[in-house]
Amino acid sequence: MSLIITDECINCDVCEPECPNEAITPGDEIYEIDPKKCTECIGHYDTPQCVEVCPVDCIPKDPDHVESEDQLMEKYKQLTGQ
Ligand code: SF4
Ligand code: SF4
Repeated sequence: MSLIITDECINCDVCEPECPNEAITPGDEIYEIDPKKCTECIGHYDTPQCVEVCPVDCIPKDPDHVESEDQLMEKYKQLTGQ
């Protein structure tokens, strides 16, 4: 499943450049993750890079976008043209 940024986000900007899929953008009030682009970093890294760097731990899994590891790998392949 993709991840989601909660309203605890302090707009510190550190997660955006870490995302290998360019899934993170500044929203109207807080940063947002595009569920069509987030693969939980599968294909690129062993762990979600945004979660690694977020200083306030405000990036949980999004229960509205449940996906298996295989589905996330498929998404990675589509995003990278493989
Ligand atoms: Fe981007 Fe990875 Fe965070 Fe998803 S888990 S938003 S792919 S850095
Ligand atoms: Fe918000 Fe966390 Fe990203 Fe900083 S790292 S902008 S607090 S989601």
